[in-house]
Amino acid sequence: MFRVGIGHDTHRLGPDRPLILGGLRIEHSRGLIGHSDADVVLHALTDALLGAAGLGDIGDAYPDTDPRFKDCDSRLFITETLAKLNERGWSVVNVDLTIFAQEPKLGPIKQRMRAHLAAMLGLSVDAVNVKAKTGEKVGAIGRAEAIGCHVVVLIARE
Ligand code: MG
Repeated sequence: MFRVGIGHDTHRLGPDRPLILGGLRIEHSRGLIGHSDADVVLHALTDALLGAAGLGDIGDAYPDTDPRFKDCDSRLFITETLAKLNERGWSVVNVDLTIFAQEPKLGPIKQRMRAHLAAMLGLSVDAVNVKAKTGEKVGAIGRAEAIGCHVVVLIARE
């Protein structure tokens, strides 16, 4: 049996924050603002995994009012969500994602992020695809006020 899930997230860019995307620290003058480390990629991926398994959303699982998740490493959300899926017999087949960022330029780090996410998910690199787009200088993303991410995942069980 197969199930598909979709995830989306957006966070604002601001000063005095590290930029964390897909679990990687990326050199940039600004970072994403949020309750946790504001990693839009891992948040959208968490939502896609939860959605595929019919388990609600990241806001239910990890409320942004909970002090346990203040500035927390979002890899925790992935690890715990994968465990929930595995308990129910699901495994991840593949992940496809698009990051929307006017800055920084993500072309140079796409392959590194892909390998990093594949390792995090226990998948081969060819089962994870990372795409990057600018906002064509329009809207909040195009003005470099925010970064967004869309993720689609396929999961399967016997
Ligand atoms: Mg988020």
